[in-house]
Amino acid sequence: MAQISFKPPFRPRMSIKTKLILSFSLAVLFPLVLLAVANTFIFKNQTKTSSLSRVKITLSGAKRIYHSQGNKLKDAFLISSYNPLIIRAISRNNLPFLKSLSDSYKRAFNFADFIGITDAKGAIIASSSDANGYKPSLSGTIFNSFRSGLPVTGTSIIQKFELSKLGIKSSGSPGMFLIAVVPFESNGKIIGSIFGLIDLNDNNYIPGTIYSEYHLKTGVFAAVFNTQTCISTNRIPGNIFGMGSRIPSGVQDGLRSGKDFIHEIKYNGNDIFAAFHPIKDPHGKIIGSLGVFISNREYLALFAKTAAYATAIILIGLIISFIISFIASGDTLKPIFAIISAIKSFSSGDVNTSLNIETKDEFEDIGKGFTEMVSAVRDRQERMEKYNTFSDFLSSSLDFDVIISSTLDMLEQLLNLSSGIIYIYERYGNISPSGEESGCGARVQFPAETEGAGGEEGGTAGRAGGYLIPWKFYGIRKFVARKIDVKEGLAGHCLTTRKTIWFHDIPENAVLLKEHLNDSSDSGKTIDYGFCEAFPKDIAWLPLYVGHDDVGVLMVSTIYGFSKEDKVFLEHAAKGLSVALDNSKLHNKLKELSITDQLTGLYNRRKLDEIIENEFNKSQRYKSTLSILMLDIDHFKSINDSYGHKTGDIVLSGLGRVLKESIRITDSVARYGGEEFLIILPQTSFHSALEVAKKIKQNIQDHKFPQLNRGITVSIGIASLPDSDINTEDDFLRVADDNLFDAKNGGRNRIIGVLEGRRIEVD
Ligand code: GH3
Ligand code: MG
Ligand code: MG
Repeated sequence: MAQISFKPPFRPRMSIKTKLILSFSLAVLFPLVLLAVANTFIFKNQTKTSSLSRVKITLSGAKRIYHSQGNKLKDAFLISSYNPLIIRAISRNNLPFLKSLSDSYKRAFNFADFIGITDAKGAIIASSSDANGYKPSLSGTIFNSFRSGLPVTGTSIIQKFELSKLGIKSSGSPGMFLIAVVPFESNGKIIGSIFGLIDLNDNNYIPGTIYSEYHLKTGVFAAVFNTQTCISTNRIPGNIFGMGSRIPSGVQDGLRSGKDFIHEIKYNGNDIFAAFHPIKDPHGKIIGSLGVFISNREYLALFAKTAAYATAIILIGLIISFIISFIASGDTLKPIFAIISAIKSFSSGDVNTSLNIETKDEFEDIGKGFTEMVSAVRDRQERMEKYNTFSDFLSSSLDFDVIISSTLDMLEQLLNLSSGIIYIYERYGNISPSGEESGCGARVQFPAETEGAGGEEGGTAGRAGGYLIPWKFYGIRKFVARKIDVKEGLAGHCLTTRKTIWFHDIPENAVLLKEHLNDSSDSGKTIDYGFCEAFPKDIAWLPLYVGHDDVGVLMVSTIYGFSKEDKVFLEHAAKGLSVALDNSKLHNKLKELSITDQLTGLYNRRKLDEIIENEFNKSQRYKSTLSILMLDIDHFKSINDSYGHKTGDIVLSGLGRVLKESIRITDSVARYGGEEFLIILPQTSFHSALEVAKKIKQNIQDHKFPQLNRGITVSIGIASLPDSDINTEDDFLRVADDNLFDAKNGGRNRIIGVLEGRRIEVD
């Protein structure tokens, strides 16, 4: 018994549905998360790179704007420095003129906080405020201009006292100022200068211009720093740097080298992209810085948006994977449920269960396999039922011919035979299946034991000799199905050896095989199969016997071949058939004995009563004629007395044969008593019966009994229907008996009957 099992290593109990959903979800989730992470990472880097390059660009623009402020004043002053009127006014110290000049400059350049004009020594002679006589230092900017004779711009820290001397009210103290100085020259000599101061403290102008110039949605913020705190910034909502904000740590150190500082930095917990440019005073000392920033707010917002997209994609992916896994689980679970219910149906006994799964995968194979398995079981069951039917039938029927023909029919059906034959063993071979008439009333269904055959078979057919008579066959050419000696042919060999002969896979050129066997078989065996109407693949000869009794041979052939199972069944069938036929033979023999008179072979009294009853009833019912002859040997006692009882027996037996030969097939003859006989003549009128009686009487009279030196005579009484005096069978027999009695009394050797009350006598 095949035991196939599969036991995976330990695992928690989890339904296939859960497993599928989990695996589908994970299969989708992992790539999605990876994608989202990768996306975020790339996005973050790109944002960083572009943000840094943006602040870098913005810083260079911011630097230009920062310096252009001072340059505007310088350019305006340069025009004045070539103006002869102004040069003359300085040379002549025309103060009212210069005062009005500085005032008009102050008005024209309202971003300038102070406009002053100095003499050749650098002392203020006219200004937008009243600072006359003061000689401003401005970190030596004016001095530098005088020394080089060229206009100068720069940034400088102006101390509080100087601011007050100049009359400037600055929100920063000390304040950081942009300075522009242009010297006046006359005849190669510096005669004075004009200078302007732009207060950067709390002045929104430069940062505002930077913002408006580089207006970026991301928000560009600029602020001018002194060394530590923000002194000027654009006032954009959300600007992370307000007035007084401290410069981010690290920037100051970064600027110390004098180069621009461009970095992503942390500030108040935010990531910002910042670019700082150091602002130096005329001595090269770093006194402040110009910074632009990109807030990380928008970048964070974009980043959040990407994250939201990623999350949405993941969620959609999850939903889709759930849907897919549901569909997949349906594709998986439904077949499993179908398989389970098919198994249940099958195990509850329904062998017609079929499982049809059309998923075009392994489940479909399982379904097919299951259906095949069920049909194999069903076939087996059906076959078992047939086998049972077969054995039931064998044990239920005692009719020899029925057993034989039904056996062949059943085997043909069960095993798909192409031909079959049942040979019946008979010692003397003088019987044929057509059931030749025995000539007497008793019809024998099975070959009666013929003379000399009686019960002396001690061994097998081989030893005893005998014949095989083809009792019934099909699929075989008629001329082949002939009576054979048990010493010839494979059928004979099979019975004498009592061994089944199997021929398998007979080649198409079996004729050669036949010849070959003929050639090589000195024992006289011939193959008697070449005669099948359909060329067989396999042939079997099975001996039929019970104990020491030979019954016959069963030969079967198939064009498909016998399976192992078929062969087992055939062996069983042959045994069953042997017993059934043997029983039938026995049964027939007993039946025959029970109705036969042993001495004469005629029907006995019991059978006679049965026949009379039948025929009498028939005659009454159909108002048909019926006659009986009651016959008694005359002076039989004297035969016994003269020749002995044994001779008397032989005479009785011989008389029986004469009687049998004298009547028709439809008539019956029985031994009625010691030397009395009764002949039943259905549908025979009185006149016809009289004729029969005469014939019989004559035949007996003419018969020569070799044991006797004289003939014998008989007396016969006739009774015939219809007869108004005869109402019962007893009446019928009594009338015949009475007439016989009268024949005896009338002198014997005569026939007496009564027709319509008239006595008729023939001698
Ligand atoms: P009849 O009928 O002419 O009056 O004379 P019968 O001699 O035939 O008369 P009966 O009926 O008296 O004698 C019949 C004899 O038949 C008596 C018996 O010995 C003999 N018998 C009856 N049955 C058998 C039998 O089976 N075998 C032999 N040998 N004789 C038998
Ligand atoms: Mg007699
Ligand atoms: Mg008698």
